[in-house]
Amino acid sequence: MDEFSLINRFFKQAVREADLGVGDDAALIRVTEGHQLAISTDMLLEGRHFFSDVDPYTLGHKVLAVNLSDMAAMGARPRFATLAIGLPKADIAWLKAFSLGFFELAERYNVELIGGDTTRSAEHTFSVTIMGEVPHGQALRRDGAKAGDNIWVSGHIGTAALALLGLKRPGSFSDEIMESIRSALETPIPQIELGLGLRSLASACMDISDGLIGDLPHILQASGGGAVICWEMIPCHSALKAWLDGDKEASKRHALQALLAGGDDYQLLFTAPPECDEQIRSLSETLGVTLTFIGKIRAAPGVFVISNDGSLLEPHYLPNSGFNHFADIK
Ligand code: ADP
Ligand code: MG
Repeated sequence: MDEFSLINRFFKQAVREADLGVGDDAALIRVTEGHQLAISTDMLLEGRHFFSDVDPYTLGHKVLAVNLSDMAAMGARPRFATLAIGLPKADIAWLKAFSLGFFELAERYNVELIGGDTTRSAEHTFSVTIMGEVPHGQALRRDGAKAGDNIWVSGHIGTAALALLGLKRPGSFSDEIMESIRSALETPIPQIELGLGLRSLASACMDISDGLIGDLPHILQASGGGAVICWEMIPCHSALKAWLDGDKEASKRHALQALLAGGDDYQLLFTAPPECDEQIRSLSETLGVTLTFIGKIRAAPGVFVISNDGSLLEPHYLPNSGFNHFADIK
């Protein structure tokens, strides 16, 4: 199968809202009056972001999901995407499953695939550029957090990291637990509706992709100030909670690592003034998304992780930072 029949068979769809989609040298789109275009790109590479033998359906989902998560974090409504793929070979069954995973999620959020690029490469490589819209001036940026603001997270934190640990060390969890945690890693659901609902509430927002403790400083760098968070208030899966509360020292350490520094959760981390607490709780109810208060923004710099009794978490439990691809480059 040549490149063009591959594109036509698996990635070309009827044009919907774009003026021009797949098939020309570039796509043409219109931005809604009074809105800003939010644009973001994320790559997923074999060996680094996914295992070589990963289910292609879940991979198609995840390639788009991680990009949609950036739209959620900006409070943008996703609209268009481009998809660049590098493939070692044209495997029909693989491409079928991959494109199904991609388009099912795209349908769900009304995202139109308007172009991309397809090349042969030694390993599977994916890059999605996502485009969304947000009313002028209403985007959820990282630079608006103020001292005294409350810090919130959506959903559960650390589940994807726990699932990764379970895949790397088979036998760590029962099949039943594994079944309930692996979707967090393989088919994360981007918090699009939450992002839209937070437009008028959050002072700063980002999605957690590299771990809570690694990502929170990005808000602090942009906004100024520091933060105190209580690790015992961070919401997590019952399997993670069991390790945190258990008396096995090694399990507790793994659990804290997953909770504070585990990547790939794609939940939203946001700040808001305490006056917004009630509205945030009612948004949580309306959307059926757990939103949990975990700490506060302070004027003084630094991130402090405390326990329920107010004591600092012992330093040997504290991960140095979240996952950082260039941590070893000084
Ligand atoms: P060009 O030679 O101008 O780079 P290509 O031959 O790479 O164009 O692509 C032909 C058309 O197919 C373009 O409209 C491009 O956007 C689209 N396209 C290529 N690969 C993909 C893909 N993986 N998904 C969606 N559209 C794609
Ligand atoms: Mg091309």
